[in-house]
Amino acid sequence: MHSSWSYNLETPVYVGKITAPTGLFINGAFVDGSNNSTIDVLNPTTGEVITQVSEGTSKDVDIAVEAAETAFNTAWGLKVPGSVRGKLLAKLATLMEESTDELAAIEALNSGSTYTVMREWRVPMCIAFIRYYAGWADKISGQVIETDERKLTYTRHEPIGVVGQIIPWNSPLLMFAAKIAPALAAGNTVVMKPSEMTPLTALRVCTMVQEAGFPPGVLNVVVGYGNTVGAAMSSHMKIDMISFTGSTLTGRTIMEAAAKSNLKNVTMELGGKSPNIIFNDADLDQAVKWSTRGIFLNQGQMCFAGSRIYVQSGIYDEFLTKFTAQAMQRRIGDPFNPDSNQGPQISSHQTERIMGYIKSGIEDGATVHYGGYRHGGEGGNFITPTIFTNTTPGMKIVREEIFGPVSIVIKFDDQEDVIRQANDTTYGLAAAVFTQNISQAFEVGHALKAGTVWVNCYTELSPGIPFGGYKQSGIGREYGSYALEHYVNVKAMHVNIGHKLP
Ligand code: NAD
Repeated sequence: MHSSWSYNLETPVYVGKITAPTGLFINGAFVDGSNNSTIDVLNPTTGEVITQVSEGTSKDVDIAVEAAETAFNTAWGLKVPGSVRGKLLAKLATLMEESTDELAAIEALNSGSTYTVMREWRVPMCIAFIRYYAGWADKISGQVIETDERKLTYTRHEPIGVVGQIIPWNSPLLMFAAKIAPALAAGNTVVMKPSEMTPLTALRVCTMVQEAGFPPGVLNVVVGYGNTVGAAMSSHMKIDMISFTGSTLTGRTIMEAAAKSNLKNVTMELGGKSPNIIFNDADLDQAVKWSTRGIFLNQGQMCFAGSRIYVQSGIYDEFLTKFTAQAMQRRIGDPFNPDSNQGPQISSHQTERIMGYIKSGIEDGATVHYGGYRHGGEGGNFITPTIFTNTTPGMKIVREEIFGPVSIVIKFDDQEDVIRQANDTTYGLAAAVFTQNISQAFEVGHALKAGTVWVNCYTELSPGIPFGGYKQSGIGREYGSYALEHYVNVKAMHVNIGHKLP
C-alpha cells in the first residue's frame, strides 16, 4: 500500500495539490510496515480521516537501525567530510523552501495550526534550522591542547553513530527539522519516529531527502505508536543515543529503557508550566500582547506556554481587563480561514483532557474569568481561550501542564514572593519577565530556574540560541552549538613525540 496520498485543496489561502508518501522511509525508499497494518491520520478540524500511513513495528525498527548502521559505516559519519553533509543539508533546505506553501498546507491540515502561522513563520523557521546546521557541518572539530614538548594532545569530535529521535505532534515539522539537522550535520545517522498523529510533513520531507541525494539509510522515518516503535527504539541495543521531545512521563519511561538496555545517551525536551511575570512598571499593552501570544498561540499546545501569569497588584485589574479583551478577540476556526488565529486542539482525546482540567479548576474553587467551554458546541476540538483567576498554589491547574489555551492570572505584591512562586514547580523550561527596570529584569531573570528567560517578550526562538529545561523539563539543550555537543563523542588523542621510558 506504500503509495502516496494526494489531495486537492481549495481554501481561501491555499489552492492546489498537496501530497505525501504513506510508507515508512527506510534505507532511502518508502516501504510497507512489516505487518502491513496502517494508522489512520485524522484532520483535527473535522475529525475525518485524511489518509492512512503504514504502521511500523519493532521489526521495522530493526531494519531501519541496520540501514542506519550500514550508512554510518560506509557513506556518512567519518566516511564523508563535513562539507558534503553541509551541502546536502543546504540542498534539503532549498527544496523545502521551494515547497513552503505545500508544507504549510499539509501541516495545517494534519496538525490544526493555522496556515498563516505555518506559512509566514513556522515553515520558514524549519528551513532556517536546516540551513543553520548545514553551515555547522564543516565546522565541527576538536582542539589541540598544549601540554608539554614531548606530546601532541588533541581532541576529535566524532559522531556518535545511530541516533534515535522521537517527537510529539504539537509542532511536527519544526520538531522534525530541529532534531534531524544537528544530528546529521555532526555525522550521525538517524532513525526518527514522528508522532503517529502527525507524520505527513515528515514523510513529505523524506521525498526531498531522496531528491537532495542523501545516501540511503542516513535518515530513516518509522511511523508508529510509542509503546511499540518508540519502546523498541528506546531499548534497542544498536541505537547509541535517543533524543526525545514529549511529555515528562514518557521521558521517564524512555530513560528507564535506555538505562536497562545499552545505557544509551539521552537528551530530553519535556513539559513545562512556565511563569510569566509582569511588574507594575511594564509597558502594559506590550505585556498583554506578548502574554496573549505566550499562552494562546498554537491553541496553547506549546511546551514553553506562559500558562502561569503573575501580575503585580498595581496593574492587575487593568492587565486582566486588557488580557481578557485579547482573549475575546481570538478568532477561532478553520486553520485555512485567513481570519482564524486559533485552530482546533490536536484530537478529541486532548480536547477532553483539557476540558477535564477546566472542570478540575472549577471544582477546586478557582474562578473562570473568561472562556472555559468548547467553541462551537460539543463534539468539535475547539476550545475557547480560557482565563482562570482566584487560584491557590496547590491546585492541579496551577501545578500541572494543561497543554491547551488555558491561562491562570495570579496577583502578587513583591519581587521575592513572585520569584518563590514562579520557581515553585517541578518544571523549568521557560519564564518571562516584563519590566522597564533593567536591574529588576536581570535580577529576576537570573533568579528564575528555567532554561529560557524572555525579557519583555515571549515565544522568541532562534536556531542559534539554545533551548531546553531545568529540573523535570529536560536533559541537555537543543538548537545552536549546544545541541551539537550531544551529537558527538569527544576523543582525546595523546601522541608521544620521542618520550622514551627508561
Ligand atoms: P508524548 O510523550 O505522549 O509523546 C511524544 C512522543 O513519544 C510521540 O511520538 C509518542 O508516540 C512517543 N511515545 C509515547 N509513549 C512512548 C514510549 N513508551 N516509549 C517511547 N516513545 C513513546 O507527548 P505528546 O502528548 O505527543 O506531546 C506533548 C508533550 O510534549 C507535552 O508535555 C509538551 O510539553 C512536550 N513538548 C516538549 C517540548 C520541548 O521542547 N520541551 C516541545 C514540544 C512538546
